Amino acid sequence: MFYRSTRGNSRPVSAAEAVKTGIAPDGGLYVPGSRVAVTAGEVAAMSGMTYGQRAVKILGLFLTDFTMEEIADCVDGAYGHGKFDALEVAPLHRLDDHLYVLELWHGPTCAFKDMALQMLPRLLPRAAAKTGEDKEIAILVATSGDTGKAALEGFKDVPGTRIIVFYPARGVSAVQERQMVTQEGGNVHVVAVEGNFDQTQSGVKEIFADPAVNEAIGRRGYRFSSANSINWGRLVPQIVYYFSAYGDLLSRGEVEPGERVNFVVPTGNFGNILAAYYARQMGLPVHRLICAANRNNVLTDFIRTGVYDRTREFYRTISPSMDILISSNLERLLYEMTGRDADRVRDWMAALREEGRYRVDEEVLDGIQAVFWSDYAGDRQTMETIRDTYRRYGYLLDTHTAVGKYVYDRYREATGDGHKTVLASTASPFKFNRSVAAAILGEQAVAGQGEFALLRILSEATGLPVPRGLKDLEQKPVRHTLTVAPGEMKRAVLEILA
Ligand SMILES: *Cc1c(COP(=O)(O)O)cnc(C)c1O
Repeated sequence: MFYRSTRGNSRPVSAAEAVKTGIAPDGGLYVPGSRVAVTAGEVAAMSGMTYGQRAVKILGLFLTDFTMEEIADCVDGAYGHGKFDALEVAPLHRLDDHLYVLELWHGPTCAFKDMALQMLPRLLPRAAAKTGEDKEIAILVATSGDTGKAALEGFKDVPGTRIIVFYPARGVSAVQERQMVTQEGGNVHVVAVEGNFDQTQSGVKEIFADPAVNEAIGRRGYRFSSANSINWGRLVPQIVYYFSAYGDLLSRGEVEPGERVNFVVPTGNFGNILAAYYARQMGLPVHRLICAANRNNVLTDFIRTGVYDRTREFYRTISPSMDILISSNLERLLYEMTGRDADRVRDWMAALREEGRYRVDEEVLDGIQAVFWSDYAGDRQTMETIRDTYRRYGYLLDTHTAVGKYVYDRYREATGDGHKTVLASTASPFKFNRSVAAAILGEQAVAGQGEFALLRILSEATGLPVPRGLKDLEQKPVRHTLTVAPGEMKRAVLEILA
């Protein structure tokens, strides 16, 4: 199978090429060039499988130039060997008769990014080898917190790769910084930048685009690549857990074969919910996809009106991983919803770049509304949802997942829809512990407490263990101490890859 660019001006490429390059030369995103379908029988068979078996099955349908042995190897490396602190990898927790929580945060960094960033590092070197690449892959990442750590854990000691993560020196939380500077592994480098996230990200983009740097590292046997969320190799592992959730519902007798379910997804860059859309297109019995946004509700407005308008105020919220005004992966949905009309997609993306907004046609909007529904939660509603859910069910939600729960409740009120529904839970409550502790214990209980103390306080109050990835962080030795000015990032890369 070949992959096409959503902007239509690049030649079709193999899956390996799409994974290696990440983005198409015309600036578009790669999408599967032909329809991938599963039969009702294949969906039913998922119920008897482990997570790893489900992953091999789904990945094999998309990565057609990888052998099944290679895929099984990648899956084993990503999800086997106790990498995840739950045997099921992505366990499904039943809240009540209607609602189930799909816990996607049992990986090493306690957020759902691990689901994809444990897999991509294993696919990349193999993709490079298949496309005749003889150089080692050097991954550059600029992070505002979560992605950097997940990428470090994913690429740690993966043969044929090196990873350099840049983070803004005063732009990440104490826990996030500790997670990164204590990172182990022989091929990992972590560098603090004396600047903000925008400067850090611009610095990385400049290095990627600098021909002299590319040539210099090429002579030393390296080639840059990115672990960015628009890479198809990050999207396809996310399709797996929607099938996995359905397999678990079937095996527990919670749904009949063929019975349709809803998925609620706390959304930022539109990657996670897009994976659910592809699962639906493949034949997974899905009724509605409910897109939950925070106060940066650009997607809610889009799904309601067909107008995407990023010219609005940007808010910092207590669900920071969803504080996004340009949802890159939406481009793939537009391509599918227009019947794969790259001309229209190109026009809209040009309008977004130049005017900050675009409006889709009526029939495209109808198509989107037939599948998607959206609402958003403010910070106060998010806090109340964490408290109410804990009181009512004894179940602790993180701030992002709480946005999803709030929006699901609005959906039930607005539509009366009684289909069983799965809420994608994107982070451990311990990862965003200050807000979570304040929600259930009150502001006084957290005032003046440091983040490490709050881990203990939250654990003692709830009886839940602090997750492995966050425990003992304070005691771990610091291994990375390099700090550079934004103008010195290039030199740092050249010295690291000497
Ligand atoms: C990245 C992230 C999201 C948003 O996911 P998208 O795929 O960007 O829509 C939501 N919650 C958490 C905790 C995240 O880390």
